[in-house]
Amino acid sequence: MIKNFGFLLFALSLSFIVLIGCSSEKTQQEELVDEPEDSMEEATPEEDGLTITTSFSILGDIIGEIVGTRGTIDYIVPIGEEPHEYEPVPSDFRKVSDSDVFYVNGLGLEEWLEKLVDSAGDVAIVPVSEGVTPIMLEGGEEEDPHAWMNVGNVKLYVENVVADLIERDPEGESVYRENADAYLAELEELDSFIKTEVESLSEENRVIVVSEDAFKYFGEAYGFQTEGVWEINSHEEGTPGQIARVIDVVNDQAIPAIFVETTVDRRYMESVSNDTGVEIAGEVYTDAVGQDGSGAETYILMMKHNVDTFINGLK
Ligand SMILES: [Zn+2]
Repeated sequence: MIKNFGFLLFALSLSFIVLIGCSSEKTQQEELVDEPEDSMEEATPEEDGLTITTSFSILGDIIGEIVGTRGTIDYIVPIGEEPHEYEPVPSDFRKVSDSDVFYVNGLGLEEWLEKLVDSAGDVAIVPVSEGVTPIMLEGGEEEDPHAWMNVGNVKLYVENVVADLIERDPEGESVYRENADAYLAELEELDSFIKTEVESLSEENRVIVVSEDAFKYFGEAYGFQTEGVWEINSHEEGTPGQIARVIDVVNDQAIPAIFVETTVDRRYMESVSNDTGVEIAGEVYTDAVGQDGSGAETYILMMKHNVDTFINGLK
């Protein structure tokens, strides 16, 4: 009873937050937001499997590869929205409290986490990024959460999730291990694909310019300089000074192409493009997989799409 009453209060306070939030939210992605969760729920789960929730679509895909039909998996932040400053809605609370486990990225990505889990009962919250060597944000105090942009880190994510799943559901061990091994082989292939593709770019053209500097782990792993108008979406400002700085970088280095993310308002990069005359050479995926039909519906596909887009734009 107490738990339910807590939920009611929580739901009421959330509706209030949501009402306030709507008026100031970015307009561009709104049409994408009410898209239902994609095909992850369609598979028929085994009856004794786990009910799993994760924070955002990229983890939903990665963990779904390991779980297969052994359990059900759902995620909180809808495709098209960025996961840093998300406002949870009452149905998110239910998803989490009805789950056996809630997998999060960690490294400070889910800034809304406390809001959600304070009232979500005693669900286990497991960060999947354990063991990742973090890249620090400017100032050196906070960690950059975008560790999944380095395929090597996602292999660690997979190892962490498998170990945790087996602990919770020992009978599923062979399924989890088999699925994980197959997926790790695909990740290995992806990693080689990226390294081979990057070799076709001259070194001075290995520069990624986007709105949010979310490619630092990618840049470190695959040899790119990375620049953003701002460092991380939760510090998003897009001030004239920040835009001017990026314009200078693009001009000074004669950077041949810039890019825009699917989860960020494109007007900032349009402004950089207008001022420099350098074309926006395509959309890239950082904080969410692509919508159905985008060709970037999974982590592996989104990474391949990004690499193709960079190579085509920068060579
Ligand atoms: Zn981000």
